[in-house]
Amino acid sequence: MLAITILEILFLAMVVTALIIGMGLDMTRDKRQIIKQNKELIAKYPFLALKSYDFDNDIYYIPDDYDYMVTWLDFMPEGWYKAFGLQLCEELKEALDEYNYADKYIIDEVKEKYGELRIYDTGIPQGCRVWDVIKKYTDLSRRTCITCGAPATKMSLGWISPYCDKCADEMKGQYIDIDGDPFEE
Ligand SMILES: [Zn+2]
Repeated sequence: MLAITILEILFLAMVVTALIIGMGLDMTRDKRQIIKQNKELIAKYPFLALKSYDFDNDIYYIPDDYDYMVTWLDFMPEGWYKAFGLQLCEELKEALDEYNYADKYIIDEVKEKYGELRIYDTGIPQGCRVWDVIKKYTDLSRRTCITCGAPATKMSLGWISPYCDKCADEMKGQYIDIDGDPFEE
């Protein structure tokens, strides 16, 4: 009786160990996949890397310990990323390439503010179209569901964000029409 119990305990311990190792391998695989994708993204769009600043030499660089788990695209709300994230990168790159500046262009911040996409940088060459591209996508973000990327129909009040009917229905809150002025409510 006792022997069987010990065997059972051993068996259970083996099963649990196998599960834990399996989960660990899965996580490693997911992590490797993210790193691979981000390295490909940064090779194509170097400005997506989170760079560090070297005060002495006044240059930005990718730090040695950068683990490639995040890029600036990850700071974009999910719906916008889905709807136009890569298109935005492509257009930024086209504008930067005209000035051979894709490697030198430094993004400072990517975020949502008052229901719009905001991208801040450290500056661009005179005449470069980058800020026109950003303006285009800031305007588009205001009309794109922040959750799913569908065309937005409503603007939430309080924390101002654009939503489609479906996503707005799934959340409690107060909404106005997408063409309304949330600051006047
Ligand atoms: Zn939606």
